[in-house]
Amino acid sequence: MSDVRKPLMAGNWKMNLNHFEAVAHVQKMAFALDDADYDACEVVVLVPFTDLRSLQVLVDADKLRIQYGSQDISAHEKGAYTGEVAGSMLSKIGCSYAVVGHSERRQYHGETNEDINAKALAALANGITPIICYGEALEVREAGDQVMYSLDQVEKCLAGFTPEQAASVVLAYEPIWAIGTGLTASPTDAQEVCGATRGWLTDHFGSEVANSIRILYGGSMKGSNVASLMSQPDIDGGLVGGASLDPDEFVAMARHRLLTP
Ligand code: PEP
Repeated sequence: MSDVRKPLMAGNWKMNLNHFEAVAHVQKMAFALDDADYDACEVVVLVPFTDLRSLQVLVDADKLRIQYGSQDISAHEKGAYTGEVAGSMLSKIGCSYAVVGHSERRQYHGETNEDINAKALAALANGITPIICYGEALEVREAGDQVMYSLDQVEKCLAGFTPEQAASVVLAYEPIWAIGTGLTASPTDAQEVCGATRGWLTDHFGSEVANSIRILYGGSMKGSNVASLMSQPDIDGGLVGGASLDPDEFVAMARHRLLTP
């Protein structure tokens, strides 16, 4: 966590919570969070497409400071792409963020770094901040290649980006072996890759851009480990799966400033 980058706590609901449940969930979070919390940390929920319209109505009507976004975005602007949702549709419905390249989409939908690059550019073209996920599988970590592997993903996902485009993304380091498993990277292990990522960003886009980009950690982050992970200099927030489905726990994570590492 740094003084120059505002922390971001983003809940990835995955394929959970229908639109009724989404409204109740966000209302519960909004009831607990106050302006001091939002001033200290951006709070975002990344929800199934079917929840977006209900959240837009709720957030607009009650002027909530919770932000929301999608878990995927099409690389295409419009046309014969059955099942896909365009960035223009997501921005129209008030999405601030879109996850791109989550490991579950890489694994189950065959998404490549090149696909993720195109999706991130589509998000930016529509005023949506892409949260670009990267991170190694267990066998890569066991071989000690986590930094090299992760930086290769970052390089491919950001290929061709201008410094201005790079400055507008959020990165999320998510070691695959830690996602949904209860195994968390230690703060030192997470910092190793997040710090190396910032070094790579500095080399390619300059220190001003690199120091402005938020790098999240994701992988079994929860109330009991958020403070120690957030105490690392290059971890600027969390991409939180399971723990974001408990509104009380997620609110406590957004308030990590009040917790002792
Ligand atoms: C995720 O879905 O991005 C994630 C990190 O999940 P979990 O927190 O459940 O490991």
